[in-house]
Amino acid sequence: MNSQSDNLVALDPLRTAPGSSNALFGLDAQALQKVVEIAGEPVWRARQLTEALYRQRVATLDQVTTLPLAMKRRLADEGWRVGRPKILQAFRSSDGTERYLIEGVAGPDTVEAVWMPEGDGGEMGDGFEDEVKSWNRATICISSQVGCAVNCQFCLTARLGLQRNLTAGEIAGEVVTILDRHGVVMGKDRINVVFMGMGEPLLNYDNWMAAVRILVREVGISPLRMTVSTSGIVPGIERLAQEPDDVRPKLAISLNAPNDPIRSEVMPINRKWPIAAVLQAARTVHLRNRERITLEYVLLGGVTDSPDHAEQVVRLVRGAGIALKVNLIAWNPGPDVQFQMPQPEAVEGFRKVLAAEGVPVYLRKPRGRDIFAACGQLKRTVESL
Ligand code: SAH
Ligand code: SF4
Repeated sequence: MNSQSDNLVALDPLRTAPGSSNALFGLDAQALQKVVEIAGEPVWRARQLTEALYRQRVATLDQVTTLPLAMKRRLADEGWRVGRPKILQAFRSSDGTERYLIEGVAGPDTVEAVWMPEGDGGEMGDGFEDEVKSWNRATICISSQVGCAVNCQFCLTARLGLQRNLTAGEIAGEVVTILDRHGVVMGKDRINVVFMGMGEPLLNYDNWMAAVRILVREVGISPLRMTVSTSGIVPGIERLAQEPDDVRPKLAISLNAPNDPIRSEVMPINRKWPIAAVLQAARTVHLRNRERITLEYVLLGGVTDSPDHAEQVVRLVRGAGIALKVNLIAWNPGPDVQFQMPQPEAVEGFRKVLAAEGVPVYLRKPRGRDIFAACGQLKRTVESL
């Protein structure tokens, strides 16, 4: 299928986005080999460069200790730099969540990403947060585009419209920069990556998937610890279904409504790809042992949160013929977004209907609402720099 064009993007350093053509970060092992060869250095040096970028997480060429000075100078003279995104601002929530404003590499703009630690909480608030590791595992929520073209009525990111696609280096760079900030030890700390920040990953498929391959193969994150969330882009789901198991992240679909009429109201993209078409595409994904596809369901007060809506979701899940689970998310408010938060009783009532009918259901607790880091609250807070 598209693997040939994917390779072209990944292999040809000159085909990266304007302005980032000299960024090493985001190139895969083969492309880095080409860079090293063109620079007239022995090919085996490429492995050291790859390790330095993705394992040692260097931010500048100077920090690469394994390469000779002359080679680093030569790469720099040829215009190469690490080119990894930087955190411009960090906002910390009382629940330990951090929201970051991250500088674009290929454009003068910013995106947001979120760090959500899960821990025993023992050390939180004792004043030693920076020195004592207060988490056992963490989830990193990553953006794939600046803004979003999908016009979901309840989502703050939609208000930006699509500004641009992020490059593979920018997407993988969000993850690596955040791993670095928290001193994460790969292979020891449990890290999950969710592509649920700004943007629709499957509408930036090539760059997003190139980033995933780097995260799996070079950074060392299992695809079983990565989840991509989509508003239901059918051709994207079909492409994902063809990715090999050893790089394909898990899939989450934003259902968000119990039927087509309501879904078309809150997610106009449903007119193009209605629920049945999205589920049909999901059926083409060959699930691994014990894997399930997640249906995300944002509860909009008075719009999608009644017990009758819950019954409809039960029927939908039963009739789908796919191993599914449902993640309920109470809608998080945003300025000028005209919806109501669901009542806590409605949320619990909805969950109970699904659970009583044997549908695996989880209630996602809002993280970092106080710093505007919760689902659907991400929007650039600094317009440009
Ligand atoms: N574009 C992709 C991924 C980013 S949105 C998608 O739509 O799936 C990630 C999740 O946040 C989606 O399930 C979306 O429905 C949900 N979401 C968006 N706005 C929200 C809000 N204000 N409150 C709660 N969840 C929201
Ligand atoms: Fe885009 Fe997802 Fe927000 Fe919809 S919910 S506008 S697809 S980011």
